[in-house]
This record gives sequence, structure tokens and C-alpha cells, in this order.
Amino acid sequence: MSIQDFEKVIWLEIHVRIKSNTKMFCSCKNAVALASEPNMNVCPICEWFPGMLPTLNSKVVRLGLIWGMMMNCEVNKISRFDRKTYFYPDNPTSYQITQMYEPIVWVWSVKTLVNWEVREFSIHHMHLENDAWKLVHAGWKTLCDYNRAGSPLMEIVTNPVFKDKDEVMEFLKELQKLFRYAWVSDADMEAGQLRCDVNLSIMPVWSTTFWTRVELKNINSFSSIWRAIETEFARQVKIVEAWGQIDQETRGWDDDKWISHTQRSKEDAMDYRYFPEPDLLPIVLDDEFIEECRKSLPELPVEKRIRYLHDFWLWDDDARILSSDRNLAEYFDKVVDISKDSKKSCAYITTVILALMKENFIDDISKINITPEELSEVIKMVNADELSSTNAKIVVEELFANGWSVRNIATEKNLIQKNDLWALEKIVDDVIALNPTQIADYKSWNERIFWFLVWQCMKASAGAWNPKIFNELLKKKLG
Ligand SMILES: [Zn+2]
Repeated sequence: MSIQDFEKVIWLEIHVRIKSNTKMFCSCKNAVALASEPNMNVCPICEWFPGMLPTLNSKVVRLGLIWGMMMNCEVNKISRFDRKTYFYPDNPTSYQITQMYEPIVWVWSVKTLVNWEVREFSIHHMHLENDAWKLVHAGWKTLCDYNRAGSPLMEIVTNPVFKDKDEVMEFLKELQKLFRYAWVSDADMEAGQLRCDVNLSIMPVWSTTFWTRVELKNINSFSSIWRAIETEFARQVKIVEAWGQIDQETRGWDDDKWISHTQRSKEDAMDYRYFPEPDLLPIVLDDEFIEECRKSLPELPVEKRIRYLHDFWLWDDDARILSSDRNLAEYFDKVVDISKDSKKSCAYITTVILALMKENFIDDISKINITPEELSEVIKMVNADELSSTNAKIVVEELFANGWSVRNIATEKNLIQKNDLWALEKIVDDVIALNPTQIADYKSWNERIFWFLVWQCMKASAGAWNPKIFNELLKKKLG
């Protein structure tokens, strides 16, 4: 048997830090980014002093539900918390509050494009749970930072639906967009807001059952995910080729060396001794609350992307970029709505505005000086031949730097193209009179001479008029 005889079967467990203002069970600040000082945002509840009781943060429930609804989930009107018992130094309580048996939402799917094809990946469930403490290893000592203790997390568990790394990557990117669209999390993997464990099994191509599962942990960037997948696949195939046995285990990924190593043999649910959390009541969602959350749902990023491709005929890259961020997509939608020109709206945003934002380290389009109304005005003026594309760029740059209005800037800077017919005709007549040889040449089918004549008109007008108009006038006059 060789590597061609096997397929990968992959499923994911994803932890995402929820962007609520306060922690999951107390009123301490939920520092979404890592706090500068350790143990700043702590209280007896999240330090889990004996006798302290948790109170569930309703914002966490709302954000979880909104996100689940974006996936057409099945809402569990009554969900419960369970206590998961385990010992590890980052968890002095020896248990975590999670939702094992009745999670907040069930079975739904994430739609995305993989190599321009619409694909749907099914998800088993999403549940809410609290984060552990953070251990900081300093020399031979290990320090404990409670800032993260009790931060709210979502855990998303997919079904074994992925066959290769491209699918995993597109799925994760779509998921990241969804978190950002729903304002549930920034899902920045490098900042530890999104953590992904990869489960991988191999399956002979002629079979429909896959073999022993191996879980890979400590994967902390998108690029290390595909490296980990390829390496683990090759490792398992090699074992089988040598007639060995794959062990069910959890392995840690070392991205510097591109290898994984055994961490522990995989526990089953039995080992965690789950039981109903005695300190918290079940979450009961009423219809009114569910309806209110449903109303706040945005259009899904993948639907926007498909709409941009099909309705506006944008390039795939542009559609992907514009749909990647909710504020950006809503800005673009507004500009198209007012200007009625999707191509130019796309071009001005993706080439001019995004470049200016990058130069000025602005990452959110809602923070710039140009409103969608102003940008639409620029586009309308270009389409009415009042602004040349060069001058339009000057106006946009000036607006970006100092604000004000499109018309005022264009007038002040003398950028509006003159379209005064009488003066134009005079220039064209003069050029025709001054260039008899060239006119004769043109009439004997020398097309290139025509552009020389347009250029002469532009020169005579010092560039204040639109070349398109000279083009039309010359054609008319020369027959
Ligand atoms: Zn606290």
C-alpha cells in the first residue's frame, strides 16, 4: 500500500474567545487582547475562591445565539451547563464549566467557496464554556495569570467532513469572517482568540470507514494548519505501510521542527466525569429573545461574495476582499446603491481607498473621512465627464486627508473639466486650420494622426477639457 491508497478524514474543534465586555460569570473586564499586566482583571469569583457563585453573563448567551443563527442552527430553547472534571495546573478548580449534553445550538453548516465552488460543511454543535488560566513559564518557575480565567469561549465541533487542507483552510477563513461579521469575536489566531485542534484519520480509498483518530494540538497559525495536516497524514500512512498500529492519542504540533509528538493517550468522555453543573440554572430562551436576535443578523459574507460575483460581475479577488469585512462590504453596498456603478465603486474602494487606509494604518473603513455619499459623488462626476480619473483621484486623496466636500475640493483646486461647447469648437476649429497636412493625412485613412489632433486640442486647452469630448467633436467635424 502507498500514500495514494489513502484519503484523509479531518474534523475540527475550534475555540473562539467571545468579545463580551465582561467575563462569563463575573463582572471583571473581559480583556479580549492580552492585558499588559498579569492579574489585573480578577475578582474572587474568577479566582474561584471557595464559596463564590457564578452568575451567567447574558451578553455571552446573546452573542452565541446570534452566531449560531447565522448558520441556520437549531436553537436549544433549554440548554444546560455541565462540570468537566480534569486536573491541570492552569485550572486550580479541577473542573471547567461547559455544555456537554445540551449545548446552546445544534447541527448546522457553514457555506463557503472552495476553488470557486459553493461547498457546505456540517457542524455537530457549538457550546459555551469558560477559559482556563494562563501559565507563563519563566526559567524554572511557572507563573499564573488569572486575567484570562473565566473568559467566555465558544467551542465549535465539526463533523468529519473535510478531505483536504484546502477545504479546512477555506472553512476556517469563512468562520473567521463570520465571527467578525457577527461582532462576536475578532477571531485573530495569532492573538490566541481562535484556537484550532485538528483531528485526522486515514481511510483506504476503497473503504467508507476511517481508522483511529489522532488529535493535533498547539496549532496557532493558518499556515501551520496545512503543514500539520500533511505531516500527520504522512506519519499515519507510514505506520500502516510498516504494518504498525495507529494509537488513539493527542499529539502536540511543533511548528519550528514540523513534527508532532505524543502528549497523552486520548481520554473518552467517561474520563472527565461530566455531571450537571450544580451552581448554574439552565439557560432558558424565550421566543421574544430569539426573534430579537434573529432580526439583528447581517447578510452572510459568502452570500455577499456570490452576489458580487453574479450580480455585479466583479473579479473573484475583488469580491473576496470586499466581502471579507462587514463594514467594508456595507460601505461598498451603499456606494453602489447611490452611484449605480458597481465596477467603479469596486475600483475606487479596492485600489484607491484601501491603499490609502494601508498607508495610514487604518483598518476600519468606518473610520475614514470619506462617506459613501461623497465617494458616490466622485463616481457620478467622473461618469458625467466633470472629473477626469486623474483629478478624481486627487479629490479622493484630499478628502481622505482633510475631509470637506467633493464639489468644494474640485472647484477650489480647479479640477472640474470644462465642457463649454462654444470654446471647445473654437479650439477644434483652430487645430484643424493649423494642421492642414495632418488633416489630409487623416482623410487618407491614417488613423494614428487622429490621436495627434486630439493631443493638439488638449494642449491648446491646457488640459482643462475632457479628451473624450475633443475626440467626439473632431470626428464630427472631419466626417
Ligand atoms: Zn472576576
